[in-house]
Formats: sequence, C-alpha cells, structure tokens
Amino acid sequence: MTRVRFAPSPTGYLHIGSARTALFNYLYARHTGGKFLLRVEDTDLARSTEESTNSILEGLKWLGFEPDEETVFQSDNADKHRAAALRLLNEGKAYRDFTPKQARSDSDVKAAIAEKARQQGGDKDLRDNPYRDLDPAESERRAAEGELFAVRLKVSGEGKTAFEDSVYGLQERDHSEIEDLVLLRSDGHPLYNLAVVCDDIEMSITHVIRGQDHLTNTHKQILIYEALGAEPPVFAHLPLILAPGGKKLSKRHHGEIVSLTTYRDRGFVAGAFRNFLALLGWSPKSEQEILDLDELIKVFSLEGINRSNAVFNFDPNNAKRWTDDKALWMNAEYIRTMDLEELVPLVRDELRSEKLWREEYDEDEKKWFEAVTNVIRERYFTLKDFSGNGRAFFSEDFDFDEAAVNKHLRKHSDLETWLPEFAERLAALEDFSHDPIYEAANSFCEEKDTKLGVLLNGARVAMTGQAVGPSMITAIELLGRDRSVMRLRSKLPWNS
Ligand code: GLU
Repeated sequence: MTRVRFAPSPTGYLHIGSARTALFNYLYARHTGGKFLLRVEDTDLARSTEESTNSILEGLKWLGFEPDEETVFQSDNADKHRAAALRLLNEGKAYRDFTPKQARSDSDVKAAIAEKARQQGGDKDLRDNPYRDLDPAESERRAAEGELFAVRLKVSGEGKTAFEDSVYGLQERDHSEIEDLVLLRSDGHPLYNLAVVCDDIEMSITHVIRGQDHLTNTHKQILIYEALGAEPPVFAHLPLILAPGGKKLSKRHHGEIVSLTTYRDRGFVAGAFRNFLALLGWSPKSEQEILDLDELIKVFSLEGINRSNAVFNFDPNNAKRWTDDKALWMNAEYIRTMDLEELVPLVRDELRSEKLWREEYDEDEKKWFEAVTNVIRERYFTLKDFSGNGRAFFSEDFDFDEAAVNKHLRKHSDLETWLPEFAERLAALEDFSHDPIYEAANSFCEEKDTKLGVLLNGARVAMTGQAVGPSMITAIELLGRDRSVMRLRSKLPWNS
C-alpha cells in the first residue's frame, strides 16, 4: 500500500511551494488508495516554533488535507535516530570523529577540507579524516573517557549511488563527491539526513514526494538506507516555483505572496487554490484546467509532473495584481460556478468577519440571501468582493466610487431630479418584481426622452456606489421596494 508523507519544517508560515508538495502527496495517496501522513520536522530547535506548526496545520486544514494517521513530530524520535547512529557505529559503518569543536555541519567540514586541499595544492579528499580508520578499541576508550565526538557515516570512496527519480529520471553521483556525512553532532543531536531516513523507514513510507531542492540530499539518504539495510522508497522531486523573472519564490523577496494563508485571508476559495496549485508543475493529459478535487485525484500521476520549473505570475509593482492572474481567474470561476450550498457558508463567514452578517440571513431571509449571493457572484473574483463591491446589498453604509459618481451621476445633471421621481414610480408599483420594474424604468425613460442606460447606470451608482454590478433591474428587485426607494430619494452623493 502506498504511504506518503508531507514533512514540513515549522520554521515559518506554510509556503505555497510546500502547500503544493502537500497537495501532490495527498493526491497521490488518494489516487492510489494509500495513506497520506504528516510529519512535522521540528528538529531545528532554534528555528522551529509552535506558532509555525499551528500555521502549517491551519493551512493544511484550509486546503482539506487531514492526515490519515496521527501527526508525527520528528523531535519525539531523537532517541531512535541516536540508536540508529550507534548501531551503524557498532557495525563499523560509521565512526567517531573526535576532531575538537566538531564542525557543526557537513558544509563546514567540506569547506575546511577544501581549504586544506587548496593550501596543499592538491585535490580535495573527502575521506581525509584522521579518525576514519582509528582502531575501534582506541575509539571506544576515548569515548569512554568522555571525549566528545560526532558520528560520521563511512562512505566508500569508490563507486556511486544511483536512483531513478520519478520526475527527473536517473540520478547518479560518484561517492568521491560525497563526504563522510555527520549523522550525530557531538552534542548528540541527530542531523537532518539521518532523521528523515529513520522516520521514513519507521513510518513505512513508500514514496517520497518533495521539493527539488532535496534532490542532492537524496544521494546521502540512499547511503544511509543502504547502511541501515533498508530498501529506499521511490523518490519524486517537484520542480521549483519561480517568480516572474526567474527568481526562486522566497519569503524575503516576495513577502506575503508566498504564504498560503494570504490566499485564504484575501478571499480565495480553497478548492480554487488547490486547483491552481495542482497546475503549478503538473499537467493532466487533457487541456482541462478546472479540475475539482475528485477529478484531480482521478487523473493525478507522477508522470504528469513537469521537470521544468513553474512560474507564479504576479506583478510585484501592481497592487491589483498581488497574485497570479490565473489564480485569480480560477477563483472567479469557482465562485461563479460552485454549488450555491457550498458558497453560501463562505460568504457568511466573509460577511461575519466584516460585521455585515445578520442572523435573519439564515432564517426568514435565507431565500433572499441565497438569491443575492447567486446574482452578485457572477462578477466577483474573491470572497472579499461580497463584503467590498457587494456591501450595498448588506448595509446602508457603503462608499461611493468617485470615478463612478463622475461618470454616471455628475455628467447627467438631470438625474438629480429624475432619480427621486423614479423612486416614486417604484413606490407606486403594485407588483414589485422584475418585469413591472423594467416597464416602469422603460416608460420613465421614454417620457424623459433618455436612454435606459442613463437611468439605470445612475441608479446603480446611487444605490450601490459602484459602476458595475448585476443587471440593475435584478438589483432593484433584490434590494426591495423600501431600500430602493429610500436610496433613490436620498440626497445623492455628488451634492454632498
Ligand atoms: N523538512 C523538509 C523541508 O521542509 C522536507 C524533507 C523531506 O520531505 O524529506 O524542506
């Protein structure tokens, strides 16, 4: 049975690249009828925070990815990681490195070795460690005396590691390019590659689907699998997500744009964002772009993952384009076409957060609320639009768009008297529904010898503050007689 895991490090908010990794793992698990697991890799004690863990869990919940088994916290497994390292030590597959003030990381060691090689004018030799072949009895003795040591994997200087990545194909690396990697630091802290391998073995992970930045680590991890006598899983590395211009999407350069919760907080529908993320580096065989979760699960495959990097197309200098255009387009598609029963609770949450919600919308006015939602959603891009552009449907306290006032009210000074006059016609209507409203508007315009558009555009701005919106006849019907008449009679914004 397929078992995959999403293994975020809780050192910041959930990055959209990581969210995509979670999605692909989730889709693969569901597609194959397997299990989707979550492992929080919180071993970097200095950088991991509970706040970050919570924000990751919250983001996953928003996207709808609940793990199938209890969440694993990597730090809980440190004893197991240490035990694995000591086992390799006992088996002679690893050695104690007593180099004082043991370098903290492999890259420090590499740098030191390279520096030494440079000074000696020779080739660097990654096996050039005086403790590599220390007599085991001597090594035991020094350890027993309390001398500090790191544990390093003894990597054979000959041969190579090779694996077939499901996305990037055959990957090979000469052992001569891999140093004897540190498994345990001298303070007993297990290092990343050891922890990941031990946990993946313990969790019986069959497929490791993760970011391309881990491709080079994989060779080291395979050596650890071999040393531990375990079969490595299948690896599938995902292409990077780049900003326009080719830079890696990073927190430092792209701020909130890379944080998943930004999309939730700015009114994205989870399904739309999931759909959008799925197409960042993966494509279905067909041209279809709108795929709901069930469809994604059905057609998802590792073969469909692209090798070329994906681009997240936004314009950092244009506030209106704070997100990828396609993401926004997709969100609008979802808002426009999703089941009304699914949309209504999302709109309710949005209105609640803006203090525009009234309990009646769930009771006596439920039908009305659903009808309004259904009509106004046609032109909206995010859930925020329901409380923003749509505010006038839910409150008397709405703003007037200055450009709309100029274009549709100030330019037609007759409207100042016409709109209150039209209000009286509406007040007198026997049947306040679409057709009679339309006829009233039409005959009013004939009388005044003006175009219907002049009246209705003016009414739209006067009644909703906006230049665009649903058909104005429908809007008048939805706003109802009292509110329509009141707004058309009231002192209009261009005079105030
Ligand atoms: N914790 C690693 C990260 O957040 C992922 C490790 C893995 O998937 O193997 O980049």
